[in-house]
Amino acid sequence: TKSTGRNGYHFFEASMNANAHNQLQVIQDLRLALERKEFKLHYQPKFNTPNGIVVGAEALLRWQHPTRGMIAPDDFIALAEKTGLIVPIGEWVLDEACRQMRIWHDEGNQHWKVAVNLSAVQFSNDHLIELVQTTLARNNFPASGLILEVTESTAMHDVEASLTILDKLAGLGIDISIDDFGTGYSSLLYLKRLPATELKIDRGFIRDLAQGSNDSSIVAAIIALGRSLNLHIVAEGVETEEQQAYLRVLGCDAMQGYLMGRPMAPDQFMDAIHTAALA
Ligand code: C2E
Ligand code: CA
Ligand code: CA
Ligand code: CA
Repeated sequence: TKSTGRNGYHFFEASMNANAHNQLQVIQDLRLALERKEFKLHYQPKFNTPNGIVVGAEALLRWQHPTRGMIAPDDFIALAEKTGLIVPIGEWVLDEACRQMRIWHDEGNQHWKVAVNLSAVQFSNDHLIELVQTTLARNNFPASGLILEVTESTAMHDVEASLTILDKLAGLGIDISIDDFGTGYSSLLYLKRLPATELKIDRGFIRDLAQGSNDSSIVAAIIALGRSLNLHIVAEGVETEEQQAYLRVLGCDAMQGYLMGRPMAPDQFMDAIHTAALA
């Protein structure tokens, strides 16, 4: 009826306004968050499959909001991209990740690499190469210790442009990882041309991994493909012993996941991985 429709409309409008208001508030907070030092990086350890040795960590962004508590990246990265704030935030992430890993290198873990996620907006920013160079120099951090993770869909969005950027990044001596692999539409020809060093198999394929499942043939195929292209293959989202054992059988090079280690604040990282190593 008319009145229901009207009520429905008003209800809808009210909630839309609440959302718009909420979004504006978050954008305002996001603008201040950097200078208020509300961002934190958590680090998730990455393990070599054959011997379980830690090979490095992925830096994952967290927002410690003064009233809303800890906010996960999926809840603010899209807004940060839309407003362009992802550029200064991403600069901070890169600098902070290199600064922290430099400390861990100095503590005797020179072989560790730190992986930093790049959004599509940062990836197409003209100053990316210069930013990476100056950030490495400022932190006296070796290019060989840095991995930049770009999602498959970002890398494949404009393949020719990506090739230009990735070639320059690879030229600096850093590693390039293709994140969320398997969810995009990679042409094998382009994949072959990308100067990537690593493929990260998307968590979605690992979730239902069990001997004989459909996902296990996809994972086996991705590993075989990566092998033939000489890429390092990483599985993310490993949560069970069964998944871990099966990935070992399939010949995956490295693993990340809650089973071996959650993303952690840097001051917890060392203790946690020593415990994991003993287990
Ligand atoms: P991603 O790069 O695919 O990162 C992996 C996500 O899976 C992380 O979520 C991680 O905490 C989570 N994860 C790791 N192991 C497991 C597991 O065993 N099980 C499950 N269920 N999840 C696991 P997080 O930290 O919430 O990050 C979400 C996404 O936000 C990231 O996905 C990445 O796309 C983005 N992100 C995070 N940090 C940054 C950043 O500094 N810059 C940019 N541009 N994006 C970031
Ligand atoms: Ca990632
Ligand atoms: Ca991923
Ligand atoms: Ca993802």
